[in-house]
Parts: sequence; C-alpha cells; structure tokens
Amino acid sequence: KREHVRLPDWLKTEIPVSAGYNRIKDDLRGLGLHTVCEEARCPNISTCWGGSSKSTATATIMLMGDTCTRGCRFCSVKTSRRPPPLDPLEPENTAEALRRWGLGYVVLTSVDRDDLPDGGAAHFAKTISLIKQKAPGILLEALTGDFAGDLAMVEQVAKSGLDVYAHNMETVEDLTPFVRDPRATFRQSLAVLAHAKKSKPTLITKTSLMLGLGEAPLQIEATLQELRHIGVDVVTFGQYMRPTKRHMKVVEYVTPEKFDEWGQMARDMGFLYVASGPLVRSSYKAGEAFIENVLR
Ligand code: SF4
Ligand code: SF4
Repeated sequence: KREHVRLPDWLKTEIPVSAGYNRIKDDLRGLGLHTVCEEARCPNISTCWGGSSKSTATATIMLMGDTCTRGCRFCSVKTSRRPPPLDPLEPENTAEALRRWGLGYVVLTSVDRDDLPDGGAAHFAKTISLIKQKAPGILLEALTGDFAGDLAMVEQVAKSGLDVYAHNMETVEDLTPFVRDPRATFRQSLAVLAHAKKSKPTLITKTSLMLGLGEAPLQIEATLQELRHIGVDVVTFGQYMRPTKRHMKVVEYVTPEKFDEWGQMARDMGFLYVASGPLVRSSYKAGEAFIENVLR
C-alpha cells in the first residue's frame, strides 16, 4: 500500500520563478558551477539569487564533486568510499566564474572527503583565497564538514580569508548517532566551531539545526546554550524533510509558531543573527543577514 503523506499547508510551496532568476540561470550555464540551490531544487532560489539588491544576492556552490564518503540518514547526496579525484582546476575556475557572476554573498560547501589525507582543506582554502583575490567584494562563507576532527585543517580554512565559518550540528546530542554518519559526533562538531573561532576571533561562526527529528525542547535549549558558550554567532533552524523513503522519517512537522519561539529564544540568548522557519535552510538569505546584522 502506498504511503500517503499529507504535508501541512505551510510546507506546500512552488518554486517561484522571476525574470531575474531566469537571467541568472542562463548566465550560469556557461560558468560551470554546481549550485546546491539548483541541485537541491531549493524553494528559496528566487529570493536568494535575486536578493533585495545585487550586494545581498546569495548562492551556494558545491566544491569537490557530488559524491560523499559518508552516509547521513537525512541526506540524499550519493556516497562512495572512493569518490573521483579532485579537479585541480576547480579553485581557479570557481573564482573566475564568481568574479563574472557578481554576487554579493557566496556560500562554498562540499561533500565530506574522508578519502583525502587533508579532507580537502587545502583545496577549500585555495578556492577561498583565489575568490578573494579576483572578487574582493564578495562576502564568503564556508560550510565545511568536520575534517574528521583534525583541527589543523579547520584552522587552515578559517585563516584562508573567509568571512563566515559554518559547520552544521544538524541535531541535538542524543539524536546525533541516529541522524548523522557514525564518524560525525556532536562533540567533534562543537570542537570544529570552537576552533574556528579560536583560530581567528573576528570570524563569524554559524551553525544549523534541523527540527522535526524527535528532539525534545530541553535538548534544543541545551544545544543552544552549548553553542553560545563556545561563541557561535549565528544559528538557523529549519524543518527536516525526508528526501526519499530510504531516509529517516519525519517525526513531527513543527509549526511556524514553534519556529518563531525557538528563534526568539536564540535571540534572547544573545546570538547575533537567527533565522528560524519551516523552509529556512542554512544559507537562506545569508547575504542580507550578514549585511544587516554583522556589518552594521
Ligand atoms: Fe541556495 Fe541556500 Fe538560498 Fe537555497 S537557501 S537558494 S540553497 S543559497
Ligand atoms: Fe550528506 Fe554531508 Fe552527511 Fe555527506 S557528510 S552524507 S554530504 S550531510
């Protein structure tokens, strides 16, 4: 019997298509970039790529291929123990493409590459420094994996010239073993965020939590407290959506009102910026958020 899943109304969205979005999409074709925005068919694409002005237009670029060495239970990225080798031209080509695209804010992210001795840290850092050379006006966020807990690698990326270091906790400590790949632990992820800040105290650090996995309110609160304790500046909350039936089930569709309450609690705890809502993703309107909350 087919499972019939009814989504709450607040999650029924269509991808809005604006003229600006189509223009950018045509421009992109020639640039050879892989955007998460398109590949994940993100519903925020029009808002992010359009931005309220060019200086806030945001996109998320995927580096180091499309195949991950890990297998988290919420994630639909394909996995392999030996993904294809890195493209040595990717840092240069990405920087050149971004110079031509002219965005205000770029999130660089990647799959986890446990097969590489440095987890891809040098490749990440090189891409960041080349983008800053070619397009110094772009604000850059790196959303990295945990580099298997190798803090020297975290430091290399943190000191490469970026503006925001993001690493996602994804969920509360007790649920982590059931949600993330066994190699990713809650404590290791906290250590990544703490070390990024320690390596370069002027960096903004950022993390993201999915709700709807069965977490209890007290567990969310405790997670927020730990994050504040290690100086994390930005937190975002979004609804977990099951990509396919092979992935873990949604335990709860958290209401927009509940998301507002979590957002308010985080603001009261002193986070510099918080985004919270069913469709919020870690990079949602990241450019606007940075310019309004960090630069002012
Ligand atoms: Fe792209 Fe992230 Fe915005 Fe979605 S939320 S469109 S993935 S930048
Ligand atoms: Fe997906 Fe990241 Fe987990 Fe890889 S490490 S499976 S890309 S969430």
